[in-house]
Amino acid sequence: MPEQGLKELYIDELKDLYSAENQLVKALPKMAKAASSDELRQGFEQHLEQTKGHVQRLEKIFEALGESPKGRTCKGMQGLIEEGSEATGEDYEGSVMDAALIGAAQRVEHYEIAGYGTVRSMAETLGQDDHVSLLEGTLEEEKETDEKLTELAEQINTQAKESGGEELGEASSRDKKKSRRVA
Ligand code: FE
Repeated sequence: MPEQGLKELYIDELKDLYSAENQLVKALPKMAKAASSDELRQGFEQHLEQTKGHVQRLEKIFEALGESPKGRTCKGMQGLIEEGSEATGEDYEGSVMDAALIGAAQRVEHYEIAGYGTVRSMAETLGQDDHVSLLEGTLEEEKETDEKLTELAEQINTQAKESGGEELGEASSRDKKKSRRVA
Protein backbone atom coordinates (compact mmCIF):
# COMPACT_ATOMS: atom_id res chain seq x y z
CA MET A 1 0.00 0.00 0.00
CA PRO A 2 1.77 3.17 -1.13
CA GLU A 3 -0.13 5.37 1.36
CA GLN A 4 1.22 3.40 4.29
CA GLY A 5 4.73 4.20 3.15
CA LEU A 6 3.99 7.90 2.92
CA LYS A 7 2.41 7.86 6.35
CA GLU A 8 5.53 6.32 7.87
CA LEU A 9 7.68 8.91 6.14
CA TYR A 10 5.32 11.63 7.39
CA ILE A 11 5.71 10.41 10.98
CA ASP A 12 9.50 10.28 10.63
CA GLU A 13 9.54 13.85 9.27
CA LEU A 14 7.36 14.98 12.19
CA LYS A 15 9.72 13.29 14.66
CA ASP A 16 12.62 15.10 13.05
CA LEU A 17 10.82 18.43 13.49
CA TYR A 18 9.99 17.55 17.08
CA SER A 19 13.68 17.02 17.76
CA ALA A 20 14.55 20.23 15.90
CA GLU A 21 12.07 22.33 17.88
CA ASN A 22 13.25 20.92 21.19
CA GLN A 23 16.86 21.68 20.33
CA LEU A 24 15.79 25.21 19.51
CA VAL A 25 14.02 25.61 22.86
CA LYS A 26 17.44 25.07 24.44
CA ALA A 27 19.41 27.24 21.99
CA LEU A 28 17.19 30.34 21.85
CA PRO A 29 17.83 31.52 25.45
CA LYS A 30 21.58 31.44 24.67
CA MET A 31 21.04 33.44 21.51
CA ALA A 32 18.93 35.96 23.43
CA LYS A 33 21.69 36.26 26.01
CA ALA A 34 24.30 36.90 23.33
CA ALA A 35 22.27 39.67 21.64
CA SER A 36 23.16 43.31 22.26
CA SER A 37 20.14 44.85 20.56
CA ASP A 38 17.08 44.93 22.82
CA GLU A 39 14.87 44.37 19.82
CA LEU A 40 16.81 41.30 18.73
CA ARG A 41 16.88 39.88 22.24
CA GLN A 42 13.13 40.39 22.61
CA GLY A 43 12.65 38.82 19.19
CA PHE A 44 14.51 35.69 20.32
CA GLU A 45 12.54 35.61 23.58
CA GLN A 46 9.28 35.95 21.70
CA HIS A 47 10.28 33.22 19.28
CA LEU A 48 11.18 30.99 22.21
CA GLU A 49 7.57 31.22 23.40
CA GLN A 50 6.34 30.49 19.87
CA THR A 51 8.74 27.56 19.63
CA LYS A 52 7.29 26.04 22.80
CA GLY A 53 3.92 26.30 21.08
CA HIS A 54 5.35 24.55 18.02
CA VAL A 55 6.43 21.66 20.25
CA GLN A 56 2.88 21.48 21.68
CA ARG A 57 1.30 21.47 18.23
CA LEU A 58 3.51 18.54 17.23
CA GLU A 59 2.58 16.73 20.45
CA LYS A 60 -1.08 17.21 19.58
CA ILE A 61 -0.52 15.61 16.18
CA PHE A 62 1.39 12.67 17.69
CA GLU A 63 -1.37 12.18 20.23
CA ALA A 64 -3.95 12.05 17.45
CA LEU A 65 -1.79 9.56 15.57
CA GLY A 66 -1.26 7.43 18.68
CA GLU A 67 2.51 7.64 18.12
CA SER A 68 5.43 8.75 20.27
CA PRO A 69 7.13 11.98 19.12
CA LYS A 70 10.50 10.72 20.32
CA GLY A 71 13.14 8.55 18.73
CA ARG A 72 14.86 10.81 16.23
CA THR A 73 17.61 13.39 16.44
CA CYS A 74 17.49 16.17 13.88
CA LYS A 75 21.11 16.32 12.72
CA GLY A 76 20.41 19.28 10.47
CA MET A 77 19.34 21.42 13.41
CA GLN A 78 22.26 20.12 15.44
CA GLY A 79 24.61 21.34 12.73
CA LEU A 80 22.91 24.70 12.40
CA ILE A 81 23.05 25.30 16.15
CA GLU A 82 26.67 24.19 16.25
CA GLU A 83 27.58 26.62 13.48
CA GLY A 84 25.66 29.36 15.24
CA SER A 85 27.55 28.86 18.46
CA GLU A 86 30.83 28.78 16.54
CA ALA A 87 29.94 32.21 15.15
CA THR A 88 29.06 33.58 18.56
CA GLY A 89 32.35 32.21 19.88
CA GLU A 90 34.24 34.52 17.52
CA ASP A 91 35.52 37.90 18.63
CA TYR A 92 32.51 39.79 17.30
CA GLU A 93 31.01 42.46 19.47
CA GLY A 94 27.88 44.54 19.67
CA SER A 95 26.02 44.88 16.40
CA VAL A 96 28.53 42.72 14.52
CA MET A 97 27.71 39.87 16.90
CA ASP A 98 24.02 40.65 16.41
CA ALA A 99 24.49 40.38 12.63
CA ALA A 100 26.12 36.96 13.16
CA LEU A 101 23.22 35.87 15.38
CA ILE A 102 20.69 36.96 12.78
CA GLY A 103 22.56 34.97 10.12
CA ALA A 104 22.41 31.86 12.29
CA ALA A 105 18.75 32.41 13.21
CA GLN A 106 17.66 32.87 9.61
CA ARG A 107 19.37 29.63 8.58
CA VAL A 108 17.34 27.92 11.31
CA GLU A 109 14.10 29.53 10.14
CA HIS A 110 14.66 28.57 6.52
CA TYR A 111 15.40 25.00 7.55
CA GLU A 112 12.18 24.86 9.57
CA ILE A 113 10.16 26.48 6.78
CA ALA A 114 11.35 23.70 4.44
CA GLY A 115 10.52 21.02 7.01
CA TYR A 116 7.03 22.34 7.78
CA GLY A 117 6.28 22.88 4.10
CA THR A 118 7.13 19.23 3.51
CA VAL A 119 4.93 17.81 6.30
CA ARG A 120 2.09 20.18 5.47
CA SER A 121 2.02 18.85 1.89
CA MET A 122 2.16 15.26 3.14
CA ALA A 123 -0.67 15.90 5.62
CA GLU A 124 -2.76 17.30 2.76
CA THR A 125 -2.11 14.24 0.59
CA LEU A 126 -2.87 11.91 3.50
CA GLY A 127 -6.15 13.73 4.17
CA GLN A 128 -5.08 14.78 7.68
CA ASP A 129 -6.91 18.09 7.54
CA ASP A 130 -6.66 18.81 11.26
CA HIS A 131 -2.90 18.38 11.04
CA VAL A 132 -2.71 20.72 8.05
CA SER A 133 -4.09 23.65 10.02
CA LEU A 134 -1.77 23.01 12.99
CA LEU A 135 1.28 22.72 10.74
CA GLU A 136 0.26 25.76 8.75
CA GLY A 137 -0.03 27.81 11.97
CA THR A 138 3.58 26.99 12.78
CA LEU A 139 4.75 27.51 9.21
CA GLU A 140 3.27 31.02 9.23
CA GLU A 141 5.03 31.88 12.50
CA GLU A 142 8.35 30.68 11.13
CA LYS A 143 7.89 32.82 8.03
CA GLU A 144 6.93 35.87 10.10
CA THR A 145 10.01 35.38 12.27
CA ASP A 146 12.21 35.16 9.19
CA GLU A 147 10.72 38.40 7.82
CA LYS A 148 11.23 40.19 11.14
CA LEU A 149 14.85 39.06 11.15
CA THR A 150 15.34 40.41 7.63
CA GLU A 151 13.99 43.80 8.73
CA LEU A 152 16.18 43.81 11.84
CA ALA A 153 19.22 42.84 9.76
CA GLU A 154 18.86 45.96 7.62
CA GLN A 155 19.22 48.23 10.63
CA ILE A 156 21.74 46.09 12.51
CA ASN A 157 24.01 45.60 9.49
CA THR A 158 24.17 49.37 9.08
CA GLN A 159 25.15 49.77 12.73
CA ALA A 160 27.67 46.95 12.33
CA LYS A 161 29.20 48.64 9.30
CA GLU A 162 29.55 51.91 11.21
CA SER A 163 31.16 50.22 14.20
CA GLY A 164 33.36 48.06 11.95
CA GLY A 165 37.03 48.75 11.33
CA GLU A 166 37.38 50.01 14.86
CA GLU A 167 37.54 46.56 16.30
CA LEU A 168 39.75 46.30 19.35
CA GLY A 169 39.89 50.10 19.33
CA GLU A 170 37.95 52.63 21.37
CA ALA A 171 34.59 51.74 19.88
CA SER A 172 34.84 48.10 20.84
CA SER A 173 35.81 48.82 24.42
CA ARG A 174 32.86 51.18 24.65
CA ASP A 175 30.62 48.37 23.41
CA LYS A 176 32.21 45.77 25.61
CA LYS A 177 29.77 46.15 28.47
CA LYS A 178 26.89 45.47 26.16
CA SER A 179 28.47 42.49 24.49
CA ARG A 180 27.77 39.15 26.08
CA ARG A 181 29.05 35.99 24.60
CA VAL A 182 27.50 32.57 24.56
CA ALA A 183 29.47 30.23 26.78
FE1 FE B 1 9.50 26.38 15.18
